[in-house]
Amino acid sequence: MSHPSRQILADASVFVSGTGTDVGKSVATAALLRALRQAGLAVQAVKPVQTGVEDAAREGDAACYAQAVADMPPGPLPPAATLHSFRLPASPHLAAAREGAQLTVAGLRQDIETHWRTLMAAHAGAGPCAVLLEGAGGLRVPFNEREDTLDLMAALAAPVVIVARNGLGALNLAQLTLDAVRDRGLVTAGLILMPPSDALGTPDEATRAILADNEHWLRARLETEGIPVAVLPWVRLNAAGWERLAQAVRPVAQALAALLRTPSHTAEALVRRDKKVLWHPYTSATHPLPVFAARRSHHNRLVLADGRELVDGMSSWWAAVHGYNHPRLLAALRAQAGRMPHVMFGGLTHAPAVELAERLLDMLPQGLARVFPADSGSVAVEVALKMALQYQQGIGQTRRTRFLTPRGGYHGDTTGAMSVCDPVTGMHSLFARMLPQQLFMERPRCRFDQPFDPASLDDSRQKLAEHGHEVAAVILEPVVQGAGGMWFYHPDYLRGLAQLCREAGALLIFDEIATGFGRTGTLFAAERAGVTPDILCCGKALTGGVLTLAATVCTEQVADGICRDGNVFMHGPTYMGNPLACAVALASLRLLEEEDWQTRVQMLERGLRQGLAPCAGLPGVADVRVLGGIGVVETTEPVPVARLQAFFVERGVWIRPFARLIYLMPPYVTPPEDLARLCDAVGDAVRQGVHLPN
Ligand SMILES: *Cc1c(COP(=O)(O)O)cnc(C)c1O
Repeated sequence: MSHPSRQILADASVFVSGTGTDVGKSVATAALLRALRQAGLAVQAVKPVQTGVEDAAREGDAACYAQAVADMPPGPLPPAATLHSFRLPASPHLAAAREGAQLTVAGLRQDIETHWRTLMAAHAGAGPCAVLLEGAGGLRVPFNEREDTLDLMAALAAPVVIVARNGLGALNLAQLTLDAVRDRGLVTAGLILMPPSDALGTPDEATRAILADNEHWLRARLETEGIPVAVLPWVRLNAAGWERLAQAVRPVAQALAALLRTPSHTAEALVRRDKKVLWHPYTSATHPLPVFAARRSHHNRLVLADGRELVDGMSSWWAAVHGYNHPRLLAALRAQAGRMPHVMFGGLTHAPAVELAERLLDMLPQGLARVFPADSGSVAVEVALKMALQYQQGIGQTRRTRFLTPRGGYHGDTTGAMSVCDPVTGMHSLFARMLPQQLFMERPRCRFDQPFDPASLDDSRQKLAEHGHEVAAVILEPVVQGAGGMWFYHPDYLRGLAQLCREAGALLIFDEIATGFGRTGTLFAAERAGVTPDILCCGKALTGGVLTLAATVCTEQVADGICRDGNVFMHGPTYMGNPLACAVALASLRLLEEEDWQTRVQMLERGLRQGLAPCAGLPGVADVRVLGGIGVVETTEPVPVARLQAFFVERGVWIRPFARLIYLMPPYVTPPEDLARLCDAVGDAVRQGVHLPN
């Protein structure tokens, strides 16, 4: 099961970046190269993009790197390499465009990886090779209209050395750079302070005091965070000068050498420690299913701790519809964190909650009027059930204390929610004495993709005729039953059911926690039936997969019924309306509207239909169905989860099957070729019989 350890680029590279263009980065990089080689490491200094040179082999930074080690015995690796070079002395995006080239972060990352692997192969005897990568200019220097150096640094996930020139403004620039690096989840391995620029002339006493204060201040600030600071002297760049510089950067070089010698990808160790102390969803603590350690994420990709990058097919359980680390969501998170991460909702309110509620009501079916924020889907369902009960009490219907729900449903794992889950797959037998006894009706059996059969309402009609007087509400997932079987049923069922509920005096609750925010092809599944429920729950994709947040929304009529005669609604979680979660949710809803989710979900639907069609009719396959951004291969027998999971990870995709379901619900931003990879992986698994029981 465990993957063999192997070296990964993130553990064998260092990114040197500056606070600006003219801070002496190449001299600092060259000094580091010398110091690291002196420490016995096989290191090469690499300039991924060089601008402003005619001949990269003889001019530019590579020449400077070579000089720094010219008097040393030649190491196993050539001292320097340049991957792309352009003549215009300008930012890479401009210099490349001038020569008709287009730089992308993905392309540069690939070039760096290929270069490093070539070094490793050519110098296998020298042991692990590392590369010192020097960026062009500062962090926000662009490669193209959308991507900059910081994006490349994040994609590489290597430790960072920051070079700053001592002078006026040095503190400001160094701090801003350090903050930006940390905000991307990168580690600063050291700061190199270069001597002031010649333009300063011979500094007078006042200036010298400022420079000394800068140095003192940066040391004090960084060394408390464990970041070494090296201060370089002004030297002539000859052999003796390079030696003095190498000595001066030694504190930083030592920190780097330690990082390069102890790879961080402790995937196996992490999983071992996990096994001792953690518990994962729906698993045994003592005989758990295997887990994989995840390290980073971006767009529609997950990066495992051992460096493998997987195409995500799950959106982290319906949530990450915009993909991972979306800059807009992270910006909203940081901005709100800077203002007010949390405050109690009792007696206080705030703009993120108000604006989120307003926007949600604009998006939801007409007639819903009040938003009760909850911390998770299960809590939102508890709140919905309590609302229905308090409403019936409020209007004097005190005998209405039960809920009616179709079999095959899933509404969460807390007690009340569990009581309305499918009684078999929801394991009611385990909790029989504790769970309230609810009423169950037949699963809506009329398929989504077939003409509506009115007989599919017979059982609900009968159950309501028998028990209608004791039913507070009917609760169900509209159109798509999710975790209870990924079943897609006909929207006309909901229209008929709404009518039956009205006649019986029962409220109608839609649980749109999975279906909400576009996943099924409409913003909410309720729209397909043209039905406004009395109460609606949403969650999961509400924050775009960044934080936990859900909401229970009801009509004014329900709110009035509950609050009649001075009554209040009895619920109030500690983290209710958490401003961070609300701010991110608001940003996520704005993104949905701006980024044309509809077209994207339609593209997913087409790709899934085409990609999964070949699975139909293969041995052990019961059904293949697709709706919106959900693709399902239903098997005849429960699948061997661990075996399938390992197969998928080997194939570079993240797909987590359960029970008799292999299903895909990728982020809306998934490119067509990645969608094809997901479908192909499922197809290959089924063709090779990986889904068949042992
Ligand atoms: C996931 C889910 C829930 C529970 O939400 P949590 O946030 O996991 O508590 C409830 N209902 C439906 C339909 C769901 O898919």
